[in-house]
Amino acid sequence: MERNIFDTEHEIFRDSVRRFLEAEIRPNVDRWLDTGIVDREAFRKAGDHGLCLMWAEEEYGGLGVEDFRYEQILIEEMAHHGDPGFGLSLHNRLVGPYLGKLGTPEQKQRFLPGCIRGETILGIAMSEPSAGSDVAGIRSRAEDKGDHFLLNGSKTYISNGINGDLFVVAARTVPENPHGLGLFLVERGMDGFRRGRNLKKLGLKAQDTAELFFDDVRIPKENVLGDPRKGFYYLMQFLAEERLIVACGSVAAAEAALQATLEYVRERSAFGRPVAMFQNSRFKLADMRTRIDVAQTFVDRLVMDHNQGKLSPEVAAEAKVFCSELEGWVTDECLQLHGGAGYMDEYPISRMYANARVSRIYAGSSEIMREIIARGMGLDPRPAAAEQRKSA
Ligand SMILES: Cc1cc2nc3c(=O)[nH]c(=O)nc-3n(C[C@H](O)[C@H](O)[C@H](O)COP(=O)(O)OP(=O)(O)OC[C@H]3O[C@@H](n4cnc5c(N)ncnc54)[C@H](O)[C@@H]3O)c2cc1C
Repeated sequence: MERNIFDTEHEIFRDSVRRFLEAEIRPNVDRWLDTGIVDREAFRKAGDHGLCLMWAEEEYGGLGVEDFRYEQILIEEMAHHGDPGFGLSLHNRLVGPYLGKLGTPEQKQRFLPGCIRGETILGIAMSEPSAGSDVAGIRSRAEDKGDHFLLNGSKTYISNGINGDLFVVAARTVPENPHGLGLFLVERGMDGFRRGRNLKKLGLKAQDTAELFFDDVRIPKENVLGDPRKGFYYLMQFLAEERLIVACGSVAAAEAALQATLEYVRERSAFGRPVAMFQNSRFKLADMRTRIDVAQTFVDRLVMDHNQGKLSPEVAAEAKVFCSELEGWVTDECLQLHGGAGYMDEYPISRMYANARVSRIYAGSSEIMREIIARGMGLDPRPAAAEQRKSA
């Protein structure tokens, strides 16, 4: 289905991203899948091409392009011509905006130019061994010591965990309040900050995912992001965009899986005819085409809403759950249509199938997305909400 949200400028940008990915990223992907990490150089090259933190103001070296469609194009082209393990959009739009929106002019001046050049790689550390979905259960502590905070705790499953130079770390600042969190900028090389190993995982094999440890890390006050008691509120604000990013990636991954499968089933024959010509194959592929078109139309609409500042957390959750589950279903059906070949590493569908699994877990699991949607419908069973309703 033809999409109607892009102008000529966007299409020119898409072509240039594709050329960049084909020249600089694609040739390295197999090696990165083996080593479990992307070369740092890849971020720097993306920076040279103006693909890092495109939204950042020109005074810091950015392009000042707030239009989310450019990031959407980058995500889509990455699914088709790069590898979703390259955490560029995580750097650009999942973490970067914390600096852009909460950072002081001094913090922006200190960090944004390096991030824009792709020299300072960003990560965000919320999840802990005992708190993932339950952000309010974060145990890492940051104690106010006057001129600095003292950070203790650990984080896990952190993307860009090995390559990362600068992490936005969520830690408890108000022990008696589950929502009393602060956000802290932890830099590579700070005393007491250490990383664990690069964790082995089912998919996204090119991405470095690691544990981070903080033992009496002295965080100067200049590295506190915003109000140190409002971290929970900030995280909730930024999570809607994070979920839209995952939704964009999931639809693009589903489309890439469909294209790879169409090519395969046209060439592969069984019982004297191309696999594509069995009624089962045609109907499955027709269902995929239909559902991807529906999901893409929804996501495109939300991208435009987001550009106007109108993306609600509930609708972002709808997109995230719908598109990530679509990606899971499409990659599974596509693998089946490949037969045994689909199980082999040399066919991209096997990697797409493995990559897809995490989309239903990270950035808020499908269950948490359904919680958010249901609460938005007035179905909130939490005691405080019930109390509120009683006294209203
Ligand atoms: C590859 C990868 C990269 C990641 N990158 C990052 C990163 O960069 N930064 C970061 O901070 N985190 C990151 N994460 C962590 C990720 O966000 C968490 O894994 C995710 O939020 C789920 O948390 P959990 O693993 O603790 O699962 P749990 O919270 O323990 O959940 C276990 C199960 O219980 C369900 N569940 C939990 N609460 C409820 C509820 N209220 N109702 C119904 N069901 C519920 C969940 O849906 C899930 O099925 C990453 C994870 C992975 C796998």
